[in-house]
Amino acid sequence: MKLLLIEDDPMIGKSIRDGLRREGYSVDWVRDGCSGELAVNAETYDLLILDLGLPRMDGLTLLSTIRASGHLMPVLIITARNEIDDTVNGLDAGADDYLAKPFSMPELSARVRALLRRSFGRAITTLRAGDLELDPQTRIVHLAGKSIPLSQRELALLEHLMRRPGAIVSKANLEGSIYGWGEEVESNTIEVHISNLRKKLGTERIITVRGVGYQVAAK
Ligand code: CA
Repeated sequence: MKLLLIEDDPMIGKSIRDGLRREGYSVDWVRDGCSGELAVNAETYDLLILDLGLPRMDGLTLLSTIRASGHLMPVLIITARNEIDDTVNGLDAGADDYLAKPFSMPELSARVRALLRRSFGRAITTLRAGDLELDPQTRIVHLAGKSIPLSQRELALLEHLMRRPGAIVSKANLEGSIYGWGEEVESNTIEVHISNLRKKLGTERIITVRGVGYQVAAK
């Protein structure tokens, strides 16, 4: 899952980005509205976290611009308590939910999970591929009923594949989904994670489509 955070406050921005990365999301962080617009047009994000009081272009204008150009990803507004009127305008302008500052990381991640779940249109939260199950809420993976411990990166990678059953996902897409800007990615990182996943889940679970990418086996 790749998220874009648009927040100009360095302390709040850093704590949100680091907190969400610890939960296995890939997070890009920009600090003004114009950079937010550029990022949205350059990359594909699963969700936006949007502050309203922003330099260069305020959050409401950015939101209207994004929606007017046809971007449909869920938008979570994070707002100061004295900006409640703006929050209502934000919901009118196409935001999906809002959270008033200050909030705790568990509150934020619960909202993020709920929005992602809604956006992926799954009433059932557990992702399944045969007897392989991944619960995005608890971050627990079961194989044939047995829980399998995975690292945050392995989990993020597997979740990205399992949310796209049958699709062949390119290595670049996988890299983009689990790493944010400015994070060092070694050229063989994805291969290493895939290889570790195969050790834990069995070799036939993730299929390599040579020259194209990877696919989770539907068996
Ligand atoms: Ca602000």
